[in-house]
Amino acid sequence: MFSKMEIYTTFGLPASADSYLVINDEIQLRKLLSSGQLSDSFFILGGGSNVVFTKHFPGTIVHLDNKGIRLLGVDSTSGDYLVEAAAGEVWDDFVHYCISNGWYGLENLVAIPGTVGAAPVQNVGAYGKEAKDSIFRVRTFEISTGHERIFTNEECQFAYRNSVFKEPLKNRYIIWSVVFRLSSVFRPDLHYKALSEALYSAGIEQPSPQQMADAISKIRWGKLPRPEEMGSAGSFFKNPVVPVDHYLKLKASYPDMVAYPVPGGYKLAAGWLIEHAGWKGRAMGRCGVYEKQALVLVNLGGCSGDEVLALAEAVTADVRAQFGVSLEKEAIII
Ligand SMILES: Cc1cc2nc3c(=O)[nH]c(=O)nc-3n(C[C@H](O)[C@H](O)[C@H](O)COP(=O)(O)OP(=O)(O)OC[C@H]3O[C@@H](n4cnc5c(N)ncnc54)[C@H](O)[C@@H]3O)c2cc1C
Repeated sequence: MFSKMEIYTTFGLPASADSYLVINDEIQLRKLLSSGQLSDSFFILGGGSNVVFTKHFPGTIVHLDNKGIRLLGVDSTSGDYLVEAAAGEVWDDFVHYCISNGWYGLENLVAIPGTVGAAPVQNVGAYGKEAKDSIFRVRTFEISTGHERIFTNEECQFAYRNSVFKEPLKNRYIIWSVVFRLSSVFRPDLHYKALSEALYSAGIEQPSPQQMADAISKIRWGKLPRPEEMGSAGSFFKNPVVPVDHYLKLKASYPDMVAYPVPGGYKLAAGWLIEHAGWKGRAMGRCGVYEKQALVLVNLGGCSGDEVLALAEAVTADVRAQFGVSLEKEAIII
């Protein structure tokens, strides 16, 4: 365990905190929890790919860096594998490790930045799959008591980009490891149109797991900025859900609007709304709306926290004025 003041996030804003702790093993974690140091202000940090520090953080940052992946067992009926991964494992490395071992189910979630421990928090999702489809249970420690608690998949209350760890148990538990239920049989999920088209045009009818992962990575990095090349937090806004009558009114004015039926109404594509409010590719100061995907705000170089907030506010206001829709941030703003 050691202290340092600079905080890595993929958005790349200058960020600092009163103190910064790296936790690699369970003994360190138990010591920290019993020390009472987290009774004041703290923030649990994984890979920093969904968080934007806009100012100094007056408290302790706890960076989870524990490692380890192990096969717990095989279900004798289904043949499924139960695989446990430590919270500090890099998510993409874990997905590749599973593919190379013949443990299937996570292929569509390849190349999502961040750590295994953060995946349940917002139930990461991409290309028609979500982490919840494969998470079996989540091992945690309660911050206030230090007690261990296992959450079953159901207890995690997974929803679109949401879980019990985001709300209502925010900042109550540290996720220490995640157990996944993975299949011994590869069943490619190709219902995402861009994916099936990419495989078709490459002449691949029955993709291997590696071909699937490669195709998804290629599509992903064709429209999202690689963190090492341009700072971002991925999708800055969530896709909003509106009631059916609101959707029908919008559809009448904008017949090509992108939307999907969901319980309670229609989910609109926030990127489409932002683009049609005229923001795609535009900048305010050193923060911009990414030219290939309007859902992503990017650091154009030396961007400040105030510039991010100002751009997010301007985009939100224009979308509200034009479509009567309130955008909610997906990225966590500190
Ligand atoms: C280019 C790019 C593309 C992206 N694409 C996608 C995508 O396709 N789909 C998607 O869902 N997301 C995407 N994201 C967002 C991001 O990758 C995910 O939200 C990821 O799970 C964040 O992981 P992290 O380790 O970086 O978490 P952080 O950003 O460090 O933390 C995120 C949240 O999780 C909490 N947290 C982290 N670790 C723990 C832990 N061990 N215990 C308790 N709480 C914890 C933090 O307190 C914080 O609230 C993208 C981001 C980028 C930059």
